[in-house]
Amino acid sequence: MAEQQLRDLDLVAVTSHEMRTPLAAIRGFVDTLRRRRHSMDDEQVGEFLEVIASQADRLTRLVDDLLVLAGLEAGGIVVIPEPVLLVPFLETAVRDEPGGDRVGLSVSAEAPATIQTDPLRLHQIVANLLANALKYSPRDQPVSLLVTAEGNDVVVDVADRGPGIPADDLPRIFEPYYRTAGGRAAAEGTGLGLSITRRLAEALGGHLTVSSVVGEGSVFRVRLPARARARPS
Ligand code: ADP
Repeated sequence: MAEQQLRDLDLVAVTSHEMRTPLAAIRGFVDTLRRRRHSMDDEQVGEFLEVIASQADRLTRLVDDLLVLAGLEAGGIVVIPEPVLLVPFLETAVRDEPGGDRVGLSVSAEAPATIQTDPLRLHQIVANLLANALKYSPRDQPVSLLVTAEGNDVVVDVADRGPGIPADDLPRIFEPYYRTAGGRAAAEGTGLGLSITRRLAEALGGHLTVSSVVGEGSVFRVRLPARARARPS
């Protein structure tokens, strides 16, 4: 069987597994509420409804991520470049990110003031990387967003002082659904964010790479051409 078909089968297997857990939780809590709600107090009913709502949110996130991934797989990602003023754009991305007050933005003198790229895609990339850095590193540690330039490329680094990622895991964290043992223990997630982020960077004509030292932290680097090519639907 072709490698791509095997990967698709894996994705279906893992996806159905990922969906079964929240679905089973929702079904179980609804069944209990149906049978026992007359003997439960308001607080218990409230707790059950809370679990149902959060499991439904988890399913929504999973479906959203899968839709983006499916669009990217099909090569159907539309790129509409326009002039983007880097500093105000990144300031907004930081401000919009929950917990973004931990993020320090620095822009080197060589970085271009304006780049030609798709702001929607760039926003998704930066938001995903900031969200991970904030999620996996301790709350009392800063996260830095550093912009520099190399030739005709813009380089955006998202650096954290979190637990770092073991060398064996590094090549795998960009695979859909792959999560490290430490990542699973530390926070909720689907394991889809980085695979999506890497493909978005590629859709803009760039790359996403990582370097990490266990116990010190991680740096995710996005390299983008200052002028992205349009990709119509
Ligand atoms: P998710 O965060 O939903 O698990 P991602 O695809 O964004 O999915 O990340 C994949 C895995 O890579 C995470 O589960 C975590 O183990 C690891 N990871 C990502 N970003 C970081 C980071 N900044 N520091 C440490 N580990 C990270």
